[in-house]
Amino acid sequence: MTLAESTAPGAATSATSDGSGFRPSWFTDHRLASLTRWVAVPASGGDGALTATAPYDARPTAPVPAGVPADVAAAVDLARGAQPAWAELPFDERAAVVLRFHDLLVERQDEVMDLIQWEMGKARFHAWQEVLQVANLARHYARRGASYLADRKVRGAMPGLTSVREVRMPKGVVGIISPWNYPLYLGVGDAIPALLAGNTLVGKADPQTPLTLLWTRALMAEAGLPEHVWQVVAGPGAPIGEALVDHVDYVSFTGSTATGRAVAERAARRLIGASLELGGKNPLIVRADADLDVAARGTVAAAFANTGQMCIHIERVVVDGAVYEEFRERLLAHTSGQRLGQAFDFGCDVGSLASEAQLEKVTAHVADAVAKGATVLAGGRARPDIGPYCYAPTVLEGVTEEMDLCLGETFGPVVALYRSSGDEEALRIANQGSAGLSASVFSRDLAGADQLARRIRAGSVNINDGAALAAGSIEAGMGGMGDSGLGRRHGPEGIRKYTESQTIAASRIGPVGPPPGMALERFVGMGNGQLRLLRRLRVR
Ligand code: NAD
Repeated sequence: MTLAESTAPGAATSATSDGSGFRPSWFTDHRLASLTRWVAVPASGGDGALTATAPYDARPTAPVPAGVPADVAAAVDLARGAQPAWAELPFDERAAVVLRFHDLLVERQDEVMDLIQWEMGKARFHAWQEVLQVANLARHYARRGASYLADRKVRGAMPGLTSVREVRMPKGVVGIISPWNYPLYLGVGDAIPALLAGNTLVGKADPQTPLTLLWTRALMAEAGLPEHVWQVVAGPGAPIGEALVDHVDYVSFTGSTATGRAVAERAARRLIGASLELGGKNPLIVRADADLDVAARGTVAAAFANTGQMCIHIERVVVDGAVYEEFRERLLAHTSGQRLGQAFDFGCDVGSLASEAQLEKVTAHVADAVAKGATVLAGGRARPDIGPYCYAPTVLEGVTEEMDLCLGETFGPVVALYRSSGDEEALRIANQGSAGLSASVFSRDLAGADQLARRIRAGSVNINDGAALAAGSIEAGMGGMGDSGLGRRHGPEGIRKYTESQTIAASRIGPVGPPPGMALERFVGMGNGQLRLLRRLRVR
């Protein structure tokens, strides 16, 4: 069946270029236009329509009305108006909406996987991983969020006479700015804990993938989310993303390091908080004692996942010299087994790049490396015979520091091999550069790998897995060090960051300080005596 013939979500089995394009026919113009109802009303009349290019056939997707900065301000006002009532609901009522969303998402996953693939070009398995991750996050925060946000009782300044609690209140209106590479996971994964913490939201859709975010918003409405609690605005980073930073109370940003810096500067001027999930240049270390087949399999999965357009994907592989040749052989064997293609089914392992700009960047990085002496061991070229933006899974050797792809993020299906002479050199190579997002160590010696992991400057380190293990372990924080960002998503911090902590200190005896009539010298003497006693008693 060709895509043009398919009538139901997930019904397409293969892609053809028979002139009718690569668009599942359930994406009727009417259906797609109905999604745009979820763009926050451009009161201004808007700034025209954004129409992205579908990677599978380089044809336009569907137009989405773009806003102007005044529309962003209006959307934030609406969200601000809706916030107190949303925050006053008991946590369980907010959680019930999120759990209904979970169920609808799992039930209707074929629709959103079709949309993600159409807008962004990834292989279906990687679209399913977005569904999996969002469903897990929804369930986790709906079930555990209340305990993460619970009041914390602490010892007061005068134990016994005072009671002190740290409580959490929502920030207010949270702005969520996300990129195109994980339109479902990054569009809603950070939104769910923000909503559960009692905030309302304004999300900026990425110009490449607005329809996925709008579909998600529509599904949240079906799950019972009130109208103004989550607004979506569409438009380019400047001025729409900038306007969002100018109006909200907190920004959750995911994107490149360069944009993250600009967002942080803008947020700092307003003294609002921002979490910044930025780019990486992630290393994978293969120790001499590793199971080389497992390491090769893990490298391929982590290097080519999402066609290499994943912030935590592996771009550098540092292999112990004692096993370098053998590992290289196994890596090339696994790489050649990767099925590159474009299909709305699970028949491909690696999909298309998302856009012409991505193809140009990947092509330029590889060309620069080859011109400066790198060797292509696999791939190294575009595959227009498969799709307009397809690029073959690529393995390079002989990459040196003057090449752009040595320390600059390629964000494509390209991995470079480096030889090391043991842990110390592997560590030196892994810690090169200013990024610090994710890393990996393959070794049979788990204790030794753990020791090595603690010396790698990265927010996550996977042992005997390339990338997905830490990211999928959603009870633990995920984020970057150095140029890879500030703050963490997932785990307790992934929801607490959307709150202000407030300390409520109550006294049973009135104001702390000398009681009426007591001389200050006497009070100070008693205070000093207490300090010495507490120290002797080892009181914390
Ligand atoms: P980008 O920074 O160009 O854009 C990200 C988002 O920011 C888009 O929605 C864009 O419209 C918006 N934006 C652009 N300029 C803005 C501005 N001045 N103010 C406010 N918003 C603005 O990133 P990209 O190229 O679309 O995404 C790929 C990058 O994202 C890669 O570097 C990748 O590593 C990184 N990324 C990081 C993570 C993570 O969790 N650390 C996850 C995914 C992607």
